Amino acid sequence: MKKSNLLGVGILGVIVGLALASSSARADYSFDNDVPADIKAQMIADMQFIGTVQGTTASPLHQQIFGNADGPTYTKFFNDRVQSVGMSDCGMGNAVACVNAGFDSSKMWLTENFIKFSHPQIARIMVMFHESRHTEDNNDNWPHATCPSPFLDPSGNEIKSIWTGYSLAGEPGCDVTPFGSYGSSMIMLKNIQKFCTNCTDKVKMDAGLYADDQFKRIIDSTAVQQITTDLYSN
Ligand SMILES: [Zn+2]
Repeated sequence: MKKSNLLGVGILGVIVGLALASSSARADYSFDNDVPADIKAQMIADMQFIGTVQGTTASPLHQQIFGNADGPTYTKFFNDRVQSVGMSDCGMGNAVACVNAGFDSSKMWLTENFIKFSHPQIARIMVMFHESRHTEDNNDNWPHATCPSPFLDPSGNEIKSIWTGYSLAGEPGCDVTPFGSYGSSMIMLKNIQKFCTNCTDKVKMDAGLYADDQFKRIIDSTAVQQITTDLYSN
């Protein structure tokens, strides 16, 4: 049984399938030989940066998903989930990265879009941690929900992908839980904005910007309330 859940017009993609692999601690990831040097260097630099983050505290949802808001915790989270990195178009040209759980649920695929746009470093990190969540076979790889159509913010403006600017209405680019790929990665970034003690103001501002944007993709009212209580109520 394989369920295709590829997100073309959002920033991320995942193909969810049924897999039987167990999740055990793994060594650091490897790169396929065809990963371009600039993409490989960028990803290594991004992961090195997240490994340096220090936080004094973390929100309860962050504690539940990741543990403390600090670099070693993030590095271990990622390395426990992603074993190798390869290049793919992820089914369509508009994704940034994807996991194909039916093929290899511990492999993250990057597209040329990873470095094609001028998004801040913390945005690429958000993408990578989003994808790392999709490797979790024991959680059915956290499949996405279909965004409403029309998909409007409280002001009546259409909610679009922050990465491509494309419409998300009717696309599988939303979540109904705080614990899926969108929720977990925005909780991570919001904690960095609020609690990182050694990040620059620019990093914290970018983290807040992308976290707030991804929060719009949580479309279940109970999940929205959970995240609001966790991170937006004070
Ligand atoms: Zn996804």
